[in-house]
Amino acid sequence: MSDFRADLHCHSIFSDGTDSPKRLIEYAVEIGLQGLSITDHDTITAYNSAFEIAKNYPIRLLNGVEFSASYQSEPVHILGYGYHLQSKAISNLCERHSKRREDRNHKILEKLKKVGISIDPEELTHQGSWGRPHIAYALFKKGLVQSIQQAFEVYLGEGKLAYAPGEPISVLETIEAIHAGGGKAILAHPHLLKRSTTIRAMLKMPFDGMECYYARFGPAQEKKWIDLARARQWLITGGSDYHGSFKPNNPLGSSWVGHETFDYFYHHSQLINQQPIHD
Ligand code: AMP
Ligand code: ZN
Ligand code: FE
Ligand code: FE
Repeated sequence: MSDFRADLHCHSIFSDGTDSPKRLIEYAVEIGLQGLSITDHDTITAYNSAFEIAKNYPIRLLNGVEFSASYQSEPVHILGYGYHLQSKAISNLCERHSKRREDRNHKILEKLKKVGISIDPEELTHQGSWGRPHIAYALFKKGLVQSIQQAFEVYLGEGKLAYAPGEPISVLETIEAIHAGGGKAILAHPHLLKRSTTIRAMLKMPFDGMECYYARFGPAQEKKWIDLARARQWLITGGSDYHGSFKPNNPLGSSWVGHETFDYFYHHSQLINQQPIHD
């Protein structure tokens, strides 16, 4: 029995996490993880520094990302692992998301203004891929909501007062971009999908795997997804979706994968990144 654990899902300050890549790596080592993937929303900026930092710690880092796709207006999150760090397909998709987010965030701020809430984008602290959690935090700081959760319930959640969907980017084109960049595409936290039609459609998409172990899930919650992934011979992954103080209920390391799964992705990434990319 090995006690190897690798958390394959967490967010840094380059999206909506509150820890820097350095702090995430230190923290992962402190709690005994031997592998980690930082999976920021729609950006791979963390990897400009994270590999250099990780060299000084007894931990292996796998490059990851979490793309926000959409299927018939429902948000679908897709994790990408082990892509080529210089891939144009990946950087182009990140660039498209950055424009999508700027446009959408301003629409959200306009809707808030209409109900008398004025937030200056300059007052939102962010270093990369910003979105609703940053706006939620601003509402909280102004004393307009009691918690981030309440900001989503009243203003920012789907269909709420200040919701704006933004340009939809499809599941298929996201999977194809990850594959073009040499990476593996994983359906993230499938239990968060609301419509059964979306779940059925996702099970027919050309994913390489599914995130079956999630945050503080127990075996009963995991089983349904493990069975579905196995039936498709998909990879089975897991992670905490740790965001620091933005989502205090998801502690780092609360879900993980063992060495076999981690080594598969890690060696794949090493191999891909030793070759020139032609995408
Ligand atoms: P965005 O990327 O701007 O669409 O924001 C989505 C992110 O907001 C998710 O990845 C979560 O981190 C966070 N989020 C979504 N719903 C909630 C909620 N009800 N409470 C707290 N955070 C949420
Ligand atoms: Zn997030
Ligand atoms: Fe997600
Ligand atoms: Fe996430």
